[in-house]
Amino acid sequence: MNERDSEIIEQLLARSGYVLVDEPETADLILINTCSIRDKAEQKVYSLLGQLAPLKKENPDLKIGVIGCVAQQEGEKISKRAPYVDLIVGTQQIYRIPSILDRLATGRPTREIATDLKSSYIIPAFQKLLRGTPPSPTPAEFRKFVTIMQGCNNYCSYCVVPSTRGREISRSVADIVEEVRILIDQGIKEITLLGQNVNSYGQTNPVDDHAVSFADLLHRVAEISGLERLRFTTSNPKDLSKDLIGCFAEIDILCPHFHLPVQSGSNAVLQKMNRKYTREIYLEKVAELKAARPDIALATDIIVGFPGESDEDFSRTMDLLETVRFHGSFSFKYSDRPNTRSADFADKIPEDIKKERLKRFQTRQDQISLEQNKKYVATLQIVMVESSGEGKVKGRTVTNHIVHFPCPDNVLPGETLSVRITRAGKHSLQGERNTDI
Ligand code: SAM
Ligand code: SF4
Repeated sequence: MNERDSEIIEQLLARSGYVLVDEPETADLILINTCSIRDKAEQKVYSLLGQLAPLKKENPDLKIGVIGCVAQQEGEKISKRAPYVDLIVGTQQIYRIPSILDRLATGRPTREIATDLKSSYIIPAFQKLLRGTPPSPTPAEFRKFVTIMQGCNNYCSYCVVPSTRGREISRSVADIVEEVRILIDQGIKEITLLGQNVNSYGQTNPVDDHAVSFADLLHRVAEISGLERLRFTTSNPKDLSKDLIGCFAEIDILCPHFHLPVQSGSNAVLQKMNRKYTREIYLEKVAELKAARPDIALATDIIVGFPGESDEDFSRTMDLLETVRFHGSFSFKYSDRPNTRSADFADKIPEDIKKERLKRFQTRQDQISLEQNKKYVATLQIVMVESSGEGKVKGRTVTNHIVHFPCPDNVLPGETLSVRITRAGKHSLQGERNTDI
């Protein structure tokens, strides 16, 4: 999400004549785009600002800005702790950055803070701007993210997103389809549709297409000629519909890889997290996904050490890992975040127990990932090239596995090649090019 926001800002500023430089010392404008999903985000921003302060002394014309989630969360507090910051721009106001910079250039005002959370998707000018200006891909680019919705209405008790990104709102189908079409015309082969909870796409559309579900949107995007691979992220399992599961059987270019964050295997913890599903419902959906697409690779997010998580609760998470056998996962120690309900929960888990649980989970996940990856050995996989050089190629399978293989030919990012898998590691596969076809 932040990566895509950075791209939008880069594109907006390019229109105003800005060019990217490699070193902060040579910049006239430094923007720090921030994420505050987990611990220490604020501290990291203040520490970076401290490092940039001397540059401002050397070059008084340098403008420094903090944008994104930490800007949204901290607002004016940032200018109190770092008075040399010129602009503080929240998640929904990034489209205003060029006009803010124009005003700052006149010397009045000397600082601007824009943290209104009203969704920019309901501002027609922003939609037009997104539609008309997807950033032009460089020759090495073959895949892009396309944002389909902003914000989130779910209020999981640990999560900062509803307060930093605001209420959920979906972009219109027409806008999304047009942006994908432009990207494909520019040579993009793979699109990932992006939202905090794509499963509830369409429930909060600002302008049109009220009847369109996420499953409908996937069908519409998949029909666009020239698109080779379609992915999406992220999904709250509570909104995973049968229609969406059916898409994995119906849409050829929908990649058989699903990131479905479960967070915990304990019903007591899931309830305190306000996730609105049980482990039984999650396992049912996993079974339906595997039935619809037997080759699907499942990945997840896990939080260990949520307030009140007992040894028994944690063992339910370990047991869920054994049952589903995720191909991979992102796992985190729980951390208190501002403006979240769980920050006020009692029974916080001590740091050493969180650390030990995380290690146990990650060690077992690594073993399972290796076992899952070994199943690909001796199979043929279609690999989309990501980079190549010195006779070596790195690419990705439809199941999202990284594959390394030797290849003397000059191959370009986005090309697809048939590769026979020869070895499996826990995080990637190795192979050799199959030239039989
Ligand atoms: N929307 C997705 C969902 O509903 O599952 C999750 C997106 S969230 C931006 C990314 C991940 O960060 C979460 O799945 C969760 O595992 C982790 N996360 C969020 N808040 C956290 C917290 N307070 N402590 C630790 N991990 C957290
Ligand atoms: Fe956060 Fe995801 Fe829950 Fe929304 S659905 S509040 S983004 S964890």
